[in-house]
Amino acid sequence: MSNIKNFINGNFQNPINNNWIDNYNPSNGDVYGQIPNSSSEDVEEAFEAAKSAFSQWSQTTLEERSRILIRISELLEENLQRFAEAESIDNGKPLSLAKTVDIPRAASNFRFFGNAITQFASESHESVGQNAINYTLRQPIGVVGCISPWNLPLYLFTWKIAPALATGNCVVAKPSEVTPMTAYMLGEICNEAGLPSGVLNIVHGLGSSTGQAIIEHPGIKAISFTGGTATGAHIAKVAAPMFKKLSLELGGKNPNIIFADCDYDHMLATTVRSSFANQGQICLCGSRIFIEASIYDKFKADFIDKVKQLNVGHPSEKSTDIGALVSKPHLEKVKSYIEIAKAEGANILYGGKEVTVEGFEDGYYLQPTVIEVHNDECRVNQEEIFGPVVTLMPFTTEEEVLTMANKVKYGLSATLWTNNLTRTMKFSSKLEAGIVWVNTWMMRDLRTPFGGVKASGVGREGGFEALRFFTEPKNICIKY
Ligand code: NDP
Repeated sequence: MSNIKNFINGNFQNPINNNWIDNYNPSNGDVYGQIPNSSSEDVEEAFEAAKSAFSQWSQTTLEERSRILIRISELLEENLQRFAEAESIDNGKPLSLAKTVDIPRAASNFRFFGNAITQFASESHESVGQNAINYTLRQPIGVVGCISPWNLPLYLFTWKIAPALATGNCVVAKPSEVTPMTAYMLGEICNEAGLPSGVLNIVHGLGSSTGQAIIEHPGIKAISFTGGTATGAHIAKVAAPMFKKLSLELGGKNPNIIFADCDYDHMLATTVRSSFANQGQICLCGSRIFIEASIYDKFKADFIDKVKQLNVGHPSEKSTDIGALVSKPHLEKVKSYIEIAKAEGANILYGGKEVTVEGFEDGYYLQPTVIEVHNDECRVNQEEIFGPVVTLMPFTTEEEVLTMANKVKYGLSATLWTNNLTRTMKFSSKLEAGIVWVNTWMMRDLRTPFGGVKASGVGREGGFEALRFFTEPKNICIKY
């Protein structure tokens, strides 16, 4: 058994109430460990530790903060194999993906914000003719809360924690209860890197109790949250009367728009990835594929041919393209959408069935699933499924596809495939999304703003946007 503990004030400790939750291995359905079912008392202890650490950490020089964050990054890289294996076991994702994407990216997050903080500057405004100068002080907020989901566990956890720490805040953080392992392991690395006790505190448990205690805590002045839209709406409601600063990165139902004039082979290979990477459990996956009618039949045949070649298997196998879904309830939710599609009269062109992997019969495996829909307003085209399921639909005009692309409640990302510059400019400006990729997908530069519009969230992460979020600007006006 692989039990994990809370990380409070630099120590690993059991939950005060001694309540525990089972941790499942999605590849075989076994319980392989237990995690604390922390209560508000644990959150209070974490808060007190963070509060005590704040006065010193907020005054630590930028060079020193930067050095510690970069050391954390190096230690993650040195422990890449161990972290990648833990992530793959906890989440069900292919080990190859955890090794090439999740853990390297977590390390990059610490390195990036460790460097960015040394370049972060504030403005000054000279009030010409009035003998006065204004300058902006950007001060850390104090104790902040970071809450992250299960799909890219350490990657998204550190995407919040690194800028929060870089700007001099102290943190109370909670990873998803479904994938807590690498967050637990991060505590050891932080101690080894010399992060002072109490600066980062990691409390494990259920969203409805442990997470709720974080968002309700009056001393936690800002919440950076990534997760589902319903949870985001709940957090906004709880936080608003306390005037907490909020960054909400929520769900998506992203369009992937394919015009006949695109670079076809590159588009096809990328579309397979943008549909099914991480079992389709990435908020940026292009789950609604719109194809220009003149290439629809060709695309359909070629795409299904490629999807058939994807290997669903145990996450640790090198040949595996698609691992296990994260949990049994999530598998059931995704399967329920396949039934909804059938009831709505859509065609299941490929997939739709559970896969039995020999030796791991109780794991949560599902075929990559391609659904042809006849109406863009059907539920499978409107609601976030967050699994290996995409819909296909043809279009004939630019106006038609633009309308369909924007006709969802979400607005996280959009992908456009075309070599027409005028069309590129028109769609880039008119697509309702926080991120538009043209002739590529999920190409990330950590300096760029990241986030969504509409029900996909409020606020932006990434680069100086994240450093601005985690600081409070104060204007100082000096008359001389
Ligand atoms: P949830 O919203 O269920 O959970 C996210 C986190 O919030 C978890 O740590 C969860 O804990 C916690 N939580 C749940 N309820 C509360 C509460 N009342 N108070 C405080 N915290 C709470 O999302 P999932 O984990 O299911 O993640 C999938 C969702 O995340 C999808 O909708 C996906 O689109 C979105 N997402 C968005 C991204 C973006 O950048 N926009 C990126 C990645 C994912 P617990 O797990 O214990 O319930």
